[in-house]
Amino acid sequence: RDLVAPDAEGDERLIEAALRPKRLDEFIGQARVREQLSLVLQSALRRNRPPDHVLMSGGPGLGKTTLSMIIATELSVPLRITSGPALERAGDLAAILSTLSEGEVLFIDEIHRMARPAEEMLYLAMEDFRVDIVVGKGPGATAIPLEVAPFTLVGATTRAGLLPAPLRDRFGFVAHMDFYEVAELEQVLHRSSRLLGLELPGDAAHEIAGRSRGTPRIANRLLRRVRDFAEVRSGGVVTRDVASAALNLYEVDAEGLDRLDRAVLGALLRKFGGGPVGLSTLAVAVGEEPETVEVVAEPFLVRQGLLARTPRGRVATAAAWLHLGLTPPPDAFG
Ligand code: ATP
Repeated sequence: RDLVAPDAEGDERLIEAALRPKRLDEFIGQARVREQLSLVLQSALRRNRPPDHVLMSGGPGLGKTTLSMIIATELSVPLRITSGPALERAGDLAAILSTLSEGEVLFIDEIHRMARPAEEMLYLAMEDFRVDIVVGKGPGATAIPLEVAPFTLVGATTRAGLLPAPLRDRFGFVAHMDFYEVAELEQVLHRSSRLLGLELPGDAAHEIAGRSRGTPRIANRLLRRVRDFAEVRSGGVVTRDVASAALNLYEVDAEGLDRLDRAVLGALLRKFGGGPVGLSTLAVAVGEEPETVEVVAEPFLVRQGLLARTPRGRVATAAAWLHLGLTPPPDAFG
């Protein structure tokens, strides 16, 4: 998908890995989460016990995977990575749990997408460090208890509201990851350009940061596109004008809206007169899954004051009409 799609592929993944901060004090922004997490980790280290299980909630590309790696590094323990959709059967999870080493961090991305039987097995493992393996079927089935080494579960979800309460309640610490401020993204960009050996003037960093949808992954990706552009068009020199021209070329607008954001807003205004309209109707109109619209586009549009979620459906604000160069109707929202 687009340049500003929050998921990455191929080579981009390798570069992304190289740009990941490795320690908590290199992690930029999310000051509250960092401080809370630092306390959890320090006290665990002092007690020489694995810390409580950690749940991280927040949109794609805000640093959940990075933080889980940092947790393992700070605790000097190994890290196992899996994801909710990969845990289709209880056996998939049992295979992982039974081979964890003492203190290991188990990271489950998209934990809200785990299958039900695996989820139930996880409850027991989180609480008692034990699982019951069911052998056989029907009346002859027996449960064989299996011990699991004490571990720390780090779950990540874009939608904490979708987690069943019994699962949510078993996390001792919930970290809410929010969009980053422009100044924080500037720091991310300066750090990354140092690592990439690129000179990035402050005003150019500001320009890129402002168009990064509050998301470090997008900031890093836009930085690479600006670098490409500069190499070909301006002898490798990045200025604010070069950054701005590059981002215009890639259809990232001045507020950072990408093609999906603009498609959602455009449909809301042009097809539904500004709403209210239901999520699934809106998703069909832009040819996307409702979850993509809800998780990827909407939180940013809401934050920018362009869209509101109301009990009757999604509504465009007066600012949205103006953003797309249209005249808001007299009764426009906001
Ligand atoms: P997803 O859930 O889609 O995997 P995520 O929230 O796990 O997304 P990460 O993969 O951790 O996101 O982060 C994406 C990229 O952004 C990483 O390559 C990392 O370099 C960068 N990044 C994220 N957070 C920070 C931060 N706080 N400081 C510096 N760089 C960051």
